[in-house]
Amino acid sequence: MNRVLSVTSECAPLVKTGGLADVAGALPAALAPTGWEMRTLLPGYPIVMKAIKPGKPVLKIADLFGGPASVHHAKAKGLDLYVLDAPHLYERDGAPYNDADGKDWPDNPERFAALGDVAARIAADGAGDWRPDLVHAHDWQAGLAPYFLHQRKIGVPSILTIHNIAFQGIAPVEYITRLGLDRADFNESGYEFWGKISTLKAGLNFATRITTVSPSYARELLTEEYGMGLDGVLRARAEDFSGILNGIDDVVWNPETDPHIASYKTPKGKRRAKAALRKEFDLPKSDGPLCVVVSRLSDQKGLDLLLEALPALVDRGGQLALLGSGDKVLESRFRAAAAAHPFISVKFGYDEGLSHRMIAGADAILVPSRFEPCGLTQLYGLRYGTVPIVAYTGGLIDTVIAATPMALRMNVATGLSFHPTTSDALARALLQAVQLFADPPTWEKLQKNGMRQPVGWEASAIEYARLYHEATAAA
Ligand code: ADP
Repeated sequence: MNRVLSVTSECAPLVKTGGLADVAGALPAALAPTGWEMRTLLPGYPIVMKAIKPGKPVLKIADLFGGPASVHHAKAKGLDLYVLDAPHLYERDGAPYNDADGKDWPDNPERFAALGDVAARIAADGAGDWRPDLVHAHDWQAGLAPYFLHQRKIGVPSILTIHNIAFQGIAPVEYITRLGLDRADFNESGYEFWGKISTLKAGLNFATRITTVSPSYARELLTEEYGMGLDGVLRARAEDFSGILNGIDDVVWNPETDPHIASYKTPKGKRRAKAALRKEFDLPKSDGPLCVVVSRLSDQKGLDLLLEALPALVDRGGQLALLGSGDKVLESRFRAAAAAHPFISVKFGYDEGLSHRMIAGADAILVPSRFEPCGLTQLYGLRYGTVPIVAYTGGLIDTVIAATPMALRMNVATGLSFHPTTSDALARALLQAVQLFADPPTWEKLQKNGMRQPVGWEASAIEYARLYHEATAAA
């Protein structure tokens, strides 16, 4: 078996704030059949420490950015983990990146430099009797792993995957020495970004290969419009940069075996799930489509556009159930919309079980993102016969076959898509959804096509394996 160390700040089902966790959690099992053994290096947040039985550490560090640290090799929830136990960095209440009030931890630069540092140590000296042939780093939190590999001349190649270019790991210039970076690399082809440090940029410049989570997002990232200041870096490395589509964990997301719902096999079988969902959200019966949103509430997700477009749905008998967490202004606007219309119902917070019940019970799932690296909820929707209605951007382009007249005629459509990402275009898509829903045979075709669509990891795992071989051969 070839060996790859995945370096990530979150990993489902142990700790999750978004899609990164799902991907990191699913990759090891997906890769196993390709001949790559993946172990995952993860910070020892309290929730992770509780989930493992720490034995004798495989690595001890007397001073890791201000305190002692140790690495434990442990198995939990089917994952083969290296857990970085560093109480001064991770032992605190709150979320992985922020405190209970949503404020970023002030020592995030050290907290995640530590992750990159330890990845490089494991690559250099191994942990226990295991040493990786390759390091796969995810996002800015692991961006310094490729950098430290380069700085310490370790000779182990690396991949950096961008899950969202909006998060760039910015730290003030004073951190250069504090994080153990070389001042000589504080430049355009190193980690310097507008006079500050960017750990993501460090990763982009020093990784052997770069990927992102869909081919369309990869193309978009090369443009000024989507690159968020890093498009130039990516253009310079265009030959080493590609998009590999995310899959979903099709054991966790399987309507036939999902423990959160009354299971079903066919579009018709969804009826019970839909009735239960209406009840849970206190929505009355109606002839229109029941649409759901399961999302972070942030500008990226375009939910302000949905607020403006909603009359197109709810004035025609359609309904909306939303589960979200994040931006408080959006939250109060959705609360107000729900108070004003009986066909709109909202819940706030993070609730895995409810997200399953919603995706199972709904007729359609809405993803009106302004940009979307891959997006996972539309993939869950496809698997559950819940028709995705998506903006035409990033991974949403690559995963949903839009109901154009020709796609409908050829019976290949799996969802609806709109462009540009405006409230007017979204309203038109909602109108199209209401019309298609009123034609049950056509709607059912969309559902059946979606349920047949391959949304698991098999194809993408093969692409990662191919890239891993390429990176190790290049090193
Ligand atoms: P992002 O990573 O940008 O948030 P993705 O669509 O890639 O978007 O992944 C989001 C993941 O988080 C999905 O698994 C989705 O089901 C889940 N999720 C988002 N918000 C919630 C919530 N409020 N409750 C439960 N799950 C959520």
